[in-house]
This record gives sequence, structure tokens and C-alpha cells, in this order.
Amino acid sequence: MLVFRKPLEGIERPQMEADVVIVGGGPAGMACALRLSQLIDEHNAKNPDAQLSKENIYVLEKSREIGQHCLSGALLDPRSMRELLPGFEKEAPLDAEVTKEAVYFLTKTGKFKLPITPPPLRDHGNYVISINRFVKWLGSKVEETGITVFTGFAGSELLFDGDRVAGVQTDDKGVDKANQPKSNFEPGYDLKARITILAEGTRGSLTKQLISRFSLDKDRNPQTYGVGVKELWEVPSGRIQAGEVIYTMGWPLTTKEYGGAWIYGSKDNVVSLGFVTGLDYPDPRLDPQRVLQEFKKHPFIASLLEGGKMIRYGAKSLPYGGWWAVPPLAGDGWMILGDSAGLLNSQRLKGIHLAIKSGMLAAETAFEALTKGDASAATLAGFQKRVDSSWIKDELWKVRNFHQGFEHGFWTGMFHAGIQQFTGGRGLRDRYPGKAGYQLMKPLADLPANGGDEAHLLGPYKGNGKLTFDKLTDLYHSGTKHEEDQPSHLIIHDTNICEQRCIKEFGSPCQNFCPANVYEMMDDSAAPNGKRISLNPSNCVHCKTCDIQDPYQIITWVPPEGGGGPNYDGM
Ligand SMILES: Cc1cc2nc3c(=O)[nH]c(=O)nc-3n(C[C@H](O)[C@H](O)[C@H](O)COP(=O)(O)OP(=O)(O)OC[C@H]3O[C@@H](n4cnc5c(N)ncnc54)[C@H](O)[C@@H]3O)c2cc1C
Ligand code: SF4
Repeated sequence: MLVFRKPLEGIERPQMEADVVIVGGGPAGMACALRLSQLIDEHNAKNPDAQLSKENIYVLEKSREIGQHCLSGALLDPRSMRELLPGFEKEAPLDAEVTKEAVYFLTKTGKFKLPITPPPLRDHGNYVISINRFVKWLGSKVEETGITVFTGFAGSELLFDGDRVAGVQTDDKGVDKANQPKSNFEPGYDLKARITILAEGTRGSLTKQLISRFSLDKDRNPQTYGVGVKELWEVPSGRIQAGEVIYTMGWPLTTKEYGGAWIYGSKDNVVSLGFVTGLDYPDPRLDPQRVLQEFKKHPFIASLLEGGKMIRYGAKSLPYGGWWAVPPLAGDGWMILGDSAGLLNSQRLKGIHLAIKSGMLAAETAFEALTKGDASAATLAGFQKRVDSSWIKDELWKVRNFHQGFEHGFWTGMFHAGIQQFTGGRGLRDRYPGKAGYQLMKPLADLPANGGDEAHLLGPYKGNGKLTFDKLTDLYHSGTKHEEDQPSHLIIHDTNICEQRCIKEFGSPCQNFCPANVYEMMDDSAAPNGKRISLNPSNCVHCKTCDIQDPYQIITWVPPEGGGGPNYDGM
């Protein structure tokens, strides 16, 4: 029987008081901690009699080591880092500066190079980085300031005091598969914080609780997402130069799906390549891991990788909805940053610089609240004002309608993108509406049984073991690992829907969209349609796709026991 993770009841939890708790140690959370420390240092130097302490400022990070759960392309636009740490280039782990870029439109076997690179995809001066190493370095800067980073600790629940967010509860450790304490049980902490900052990245689990409790998504466009499936390859020298950037559109996607690929040349003949598939595709049989495999079979890509070796794999979702989908950023006792808030420029496939800048602005707001001794909604609303008058808003405003323009396919999307380019992002109307991607998934009855034009994107992929891989082989290269004896952190709120309705209506798409083989429909003659849902939570790479894309919205991802998850390195 499936047992799902939930905080144990009737447990006495250790209490800790905090000034600020930052949940999530990615670019946003780390930049926030670092900027707050800088402001406190400046204040303390000027006010010897009114010192502020950093002792009660904490960053919670669910991965065992800093940066281990981060996954990105990654090209770094250095704008915000230059503001946070002028001269950072001298010491940060930057693999190469971008010196060459190209955009291709692919057909099944052909390719057309765009005569000029569209301005949003010009990357000269940006840096190829590994987000894991970059965040690890940023985290070491935070630790040098005296701020404590608790790794292996997830924020599991928000604590409330009436309608004020009053901190977070961390994960219970040592709970068995039946959700019962084991001999090594350690209850999570109640971290009572004056200010709680959510920097959990895409589809944050606490952020989701907060958005739902206060209906923060009302009057906004629904957030939409893509999922990026990524492999790192070592290739023979001379194939691609360090700092070379290639984007592709078209094949293997058809005009009905949104997405595209990146190829970044890093140092030491390592290539980062991946495919982002918009999580608003119509066919529930589509498998994003398969999309990447089909992409690699294209002659242009296959020749780049020939003789090379795949060394790492991973996947992660990213928010695509743009400015109209950003929720209110602050309230009583709380702020939301980075990808958790949807501050990502999907046209440029870039969010790191925005996440960092949002962290810096949240730190300024938290500093003001600490000095005033007031973390009320009125003071923290300063964060919203700071974002609205910063270059974050300028950048996102220009692409506010970009993704929505593609809701009716590739060609109409290109048409809208063209008009938006000349109207400062407006296009045909000021605010394009949007639908949540899962609502665009069609029932099997409305689709061709043989898959039609999409047949090559559907269902599990076998792979040849050299250029292309099945999911489990790929997954092995993510290094993902969890304590096996714990309840499932993928919560299915009603498994009857899986076994009675979804299997017939959509063909159990969780088996396809999960890039880590977590969901399986197993033969069971006692089940209504001969299959029962089974889970392999230990495979999970924390991409959040299931939480986003399930057509009935009955899956909730919650953090597993802290420390579990992928072991990304160099990604
Ligand atoms: C495939 C892909 C390619 C991309 N390419 C680029 C690119 O080339 N350039 C670019 O600028 N941007 C790119 N992005 C976007 C960029 O990676 C994000 O915008 C950026 O990482 C957001 O930073 P963040 O700190 O908000 O979130 P994250 O980087 O996701 O960090 C969040 C952190 O919080 C932790 N966490 C989450 N929940 C909890 C919890 N409850 N408790 C404790 N810890 C928690 C996570 O483990 C993680 O370490 C890409 C994204 C993807 C998915
Ligand atoms: S179970 Fe969900 S979060 Fe985990 S890898 Fe699969 S789709 Fe991603």
C-alpha cells in the first residue's frame, strides 16, 4: 500500500528563534543572504552602539551539499553579479566567455541557420557556467560571512501566526515507509522567524502552500512551465569551442509543441546540451526525455557528439508564464524570490541573473525591516516596489506576452513574437491571456491512435547505449539517491483517479512526463482496469514536472527527508 509523507502529529518539536529564514540555497537564496550580510556589515561599521547580528539568519537547503540540486543550462548574464560582488569574475568558477553564437531551425534531417541571431539570443559577454559549482562558490561566500547554511534540511511546512507567516518547520528525519518514527527519528525544527523568504526555485512546495492559502494567483495568468532535460557530454577536441553557443528550434518537435534546444561549449571539451519542452503539449503520451533522445539523432547533433561520452543527466522544470503570472512578491512576514516567483525570461532562457537581483532586493527589504523592527506587510511591500522599479521589471515587461503568444502553435507564436518585438512586448493586446499547460492536454480519444505526426515523441525510448539512452540509463547519471525506508514524497491525493479514470482517458501520462521513471502502472488483476499505480520515489530528481503536468492536479511534490535527491555536479 502506498503511504505518503506528512508531518507526524503529536510530536514535540525543538523550537528555534530566527530573524530571517531563507528557504532554498540556490542563486536567489544565496544572493539574498550575501547582500543582507553586506548591509549588516555596513550598518555595524557606522553604528558601533546599535549592532545587528547575523547569528539568527539561516539558509535552509534540502541538498546534502550546496548546489547539488541546482540544474541549469547554464549561461550567466553577469549583470546582477557585478552589482553584488564587483570584480566577481576574478574568483568565480566561470568556464568560458561566450564568443560565438548561432540559431538553427531544424527539419528531420536538415538545418537552416538564421542569417542573424535574434537580439534576445545574443550572448556575447555572458559566461558558460556549471550552476552547481557556481552556487557552491556563492554558498562558500555566504558561509564566510558567518551566516549559517543548513544543508540537508528542507522547509516542510509554513508556520503561521494568524495570517502572518511565522517561519517554517523543517523535515522530520528517520521516518519509515509507513510514516512511523524509526529508532533514529529526529523531529523537524519549528524555526520561528520574523521574516521568511521563499527561494525554493521552480514550483516551490512552500510557495505553493502560500499561493493557495492567500489565493495569490487570483487576477494573474496561470503559471506555465517547461521541463529541461539535460545531458553533459565529453566530446573529442575540436567539435565545439569553449564559449560557443547554439540554439535550435523545430525538430524533433512539431508545430504543436513549444520548446527548443541549447548546446553550450564548456571548457575541457565538455558540452552541455538539453531540450526544453513546454509543459503545454497536447499529447499525453509525449515523453520529454525521449524528445532529447530524438534530438540527438539529428545528423547535425549526432556528428557533434560522435565518439563522445555522456557523463551526466538531469532534468528540471522552469517557469514560463512571465510577468502576468508573477504573484504578489511580499506579505506579512514573507517574500518570494527567483524562480519561485516566476522571475524568469523565457525568451532568453535565463533566470539566474534575475534570481540573484531579486535576492538582493529582498535583502534590502529585510534589512530595512530588521532595522525598523517591523516585518509587517507594509514594510515588506517595499520588496514589490523595489522589483517594480528595477531592471527586473524592465526586462520582464518587454517579454510579458511572449510565451502566451505560442499557445496556438509555433507559427502563430512566431507571428506574435515578431509583433511584440516591435511594440515593446505589447503585441496585439496589452495582456495576452494564458491557460495552465495541463489544461491543454487532450484525452486519448481525441488523438490519432498511432500518434500521427508526433509518433516519434511518444512513449518510452530504448536507446542504443551510445548516442541515445533509455530513462534508467540516463537516470543513473543523475546520481540521485534517497533514504529508501521513508514514505513517498510524491503524494497522490486520490489513486482511484489514476486507476479508474486517468488510465482510460489519458493513458497514465505520469509514466511519460516523469524523466526519472518514478511512476509505473503495474499489472494487477484486482485493479479496475487491470493496472495499479506504483511509485519509485527514490528515482526522483526533484524536477517537479508531475506536480505541474498531471491533468487532474492530484499530485503534490513535497520535500523528502533532507539530503535525498540528485547529485548534480558540473550541470
Ligand atoms: C533546463 C534549464 C536551463 C536553464 N538555462 C539557463 C541559462 O542558461 N541561464 C540562465 O540564466 N538561467 C537558466 N535557467 C533558469 C535558472 O536556472 C533559474 O532561473 C535559476 O536557477 C533560479 O534560481 P533560484 O535560486 O530561484 O532557484 P534554484 O536554482 O532552483 O534554487 C532553489 C534551491 O532551493 C532548494 N530548495 C527547494 N525547495 C526547498 C525546500 N522546501 N527546502 C529547502 N531547500 C529547498 C533547491 O534544492 C535549490 O538548491 C535554466 C533553467 C533550466 C531548468
Ligand atoms: S517524480 Fe515528479 S518531481 Fe520527481 S522526477 Fe518524476 S516528475 Fe520529476
